[in-house]
Parts: sequence; C-alpha cells; structure tokens
Amino acid sequence: MEIEMDSPLAERLVARQEVPYDVAIVGGGPAGLVAAAHCRMRGLNSITFEAQAFGGQLVSLYPSKPVTNFPAHLDVASGELARRLAEQAAHFGAELKEHEAVESVGYAVDVGFFVRSSSREVKARSVLLALGMGRFRPRKLGLKDEYRFAGRGLVYRLPSRDHIVARHAVVVGGGDTAVDTAIALKAIVPEVTLVHRHVGLRAYPHSLERLDASGVHVIPEAEVVGFGGDGVLDRVLVAVRDQAAQEIPADLVLVSVGQAPDLGGLADWDLKLTLDGSHLPVDSSMRTAIHGVFAAGDFVAYPGKIKMIATAAAEGSTAAASVERYLRIQA
Ligand SMILES: Cc1cc2nc3c(=O)[nH]c(=O)nc-3n(C[C@H](O)[C@H](O)[C@H](O)COP(=O)(O)OP(=O)(O)OC[C@H]3O[C@@H](n4cnc5c(N)ncnc54)[C@H](O)[C@@H]3O)c2cc1C
Repeated sequence: MEIEMDSPLAERLVARQEVPYDVAIVGGGPAGLVAAAHCRMRGLNSITFEAQAFGGQLVSLYPSKPVTNFPAHLDVASGELARRLAEQAAHFGAELKEHEAVESVGYAVDVGFFVRSSSREVKARSVLLALGMGRFRPRKLGLKDEYRFAGRGLVYRLPSRDHIVARHAVVVGGGDTAVDTAIALKAIVPEVTLVHRHVGLRAYPHSLERLDASGVHVIPEAEVVGFGGDGVLDRVLVAVRDQAAQEIPADLVLVSVGQAPDLGGLADWDLKLTLDGSHLPVDSSMRTAIHGVFAAGDFVAYPGKIKMIATAAAEGSTAAASVERYLRIQA
C-alpha cells in the first residue's frame, strides 16, 4: 500500500532530511528483542518499539513462571529471561523504545517505510513485525460502575510505589499475578485483602508460602459485585458464596483477572496486511508478501510453526539475516 504524496504525513517525512533507519522493529518480545540484537550484530541501524514492557508474554502473561525449555537454561524465571534478552539487545547498541506503541506503518515511494508511534514518526528502509499476540489489555470485571471508578481508586496494574497512599487495598483475582500483587502491596499498604472466586489459588507453592506469611487477608469463593464512594472509591461490595454481600472498606482496588490479547489496531494501519486469522504468513526466510516487510515469532504462520520462546528467538535471528540480505540487494 502506498500513501499518496498529498498525504500530510508523507510530505512531512519527505521534508525531513534525517537518514532512515535500516529497519524498524515492531514488538519487543523474544522475537523482536533477538531480531534487534542480531540486526545490530550485522551492523544494521535499527529502532525497536514495544507498546508495553520488554519481554512480551513473558512479562505480560506469566511474569514469575519458571521457564524450563529455553536452550542452555535448566530453569530461568520468565521475567529474568525477558530482562536478559533486552539487556543483550541494548548491549549490542540497539535503539530500544519501551512503552511506545506503534500506531501505524505505511509506505510511500519517496519516503520508504514510515512508522508512527505514540510519540514519534520515523522513516525506515524495511520493517520487521514481531507483534506476537498483539498488545495485552487488562481484563475488566464487567461491573456497571467499573468505568466510574477507573483511575479513581480502581486500577488494573500495580501503580509505582510513590503513587500508593491507600490504607485498605483489595486485590481481585486468584492467579500468580494477583497473589504476587497482594504480597507486594502488603509491604506498602496496612490492610490488604485478596478476593478470589475459587476454593484454592492458582499460584506457585513458593508464592503461596509467601502469601501465608505476608498478613494478606484472603477471602475465597467470593466475588466483587459493586463499588461505592462519592466520586472516589472508598468501599467494595463482596459476595461470598451462600452469604449476603458485605461491604469492605477499600481506597484501592486492583483488578488482576488476566490480560486479553489485542491485534485490533492493525486494521487501521496504512500498510494493508493480509492476515490468516490473527497471523501473518511468511516464508522460511521470514519474508511476508510485502517487499521489505519481514515478520517473526507468534505473529507469523508457516507450515510446522510452533509457538515457543526458542522458536520466536530463532525466527528473530532468521529475520535479521533476511533484512540484511534485502538491504544489500536494494543498495
Ligand atoms: C501462559 C503461557 C506460558 C508460556 N510458557 C512458555 C514456556 O514455558 N516456554 C516457551 O518456550 N514458551 C512459552 N510460552 C509461549 C511464548 O511465551 C511465546 O511463544 C513467545 O512469547 C512469543 O514471542 P513473540 O516475541 O513472538 O511475541 P510476544 O511475546 O507476544 O511479544 C510481542 C510483543 O509485541 C508487542 N506489540 C504488539 N503490538 C504492538 C504495537 N502496535 N506496537 C508496539 N509493540 C507491540 C506486545 O506488547 C508484545 O510485548 C507461553 C505462553 C503462555 C501464554
């Protein structure tokens, strides 16, 4: 897809004299981070955008899971593996932009590829898409008053320590993230209650031991069914199985009931991608149907594709080699 030259964006980019990046990488999960490292090792000038935190699913979906199948590691915590991948890319000199979502990618003859993120527009000679399952958005509880208190005491991610002034926090959820969050909050907030739906929690034994010792009050087989407060949240309504709903004081409610993947924004990109469901078909060199556009990781489809950290990393490396070959031919 090409952008007409009367497009204000294309005109703006033509007017700017800066040298385009060799490659713009979208996505900073294992595939994007390994691609960033390998592009730099090959002497390519790259920029990598990550909408959230570097590490992709390793930090968004299972931040404290032991990973036991990554080559040369018997057991490495997912968050630690993510950190090392980002560190390696930075070590080779890759330009990395975290918490900076790409909102559109397009192509114009006089510009080449252009990438618009939440805070900049850059030109690039090629593009490498490592979008994984897309960005992740926190799942909501689906309660009537939820939107009213969002940001007014109701949050979906743990705020930074400096922003927490609460006296009574309620964490909703029964998985590892909810348990870790409740333990982390207890070090800052005097009273913390964990409300979860099932009899038991779905967390690692090690986390459960820490929870027992933390002083967090746990209410099992319970659901938050309502919020209260005059503009700002000061209580929640909790329904425990077989009992009438009760009010609990709460000036901070942290909902931790999972993350939903979202590739929705792609349809609005200037670069029209033809997806197979939510995947982009590639050949064995990680080339897509669009000249100069490469892809790697969970986002791609090819016969025999498996979704693993090691394969995402390997595809990132293959894609980097293909980008280099492509740029050499173009030169
Ligand atoms: C619960 C669970 C457990 C798993 N356990 C293992 C395991 O033990 N071992 C194993 O090998 N594999 C495991 N996997 C699979 C593994 O996590 C994935 O195969 C791997 O993360 C894929 O890496 P990726 O870089 O392709 O995608 P992702 O990890 O999904 O990263 C893609 C990144 O792109 C970013 N992004 C998307 N859109 C944009 C945009 N517009 N702008 C900027 N950034 C964007 C996203 O925010 C995301 O961070 C597990 C998966 C799950 C769900």
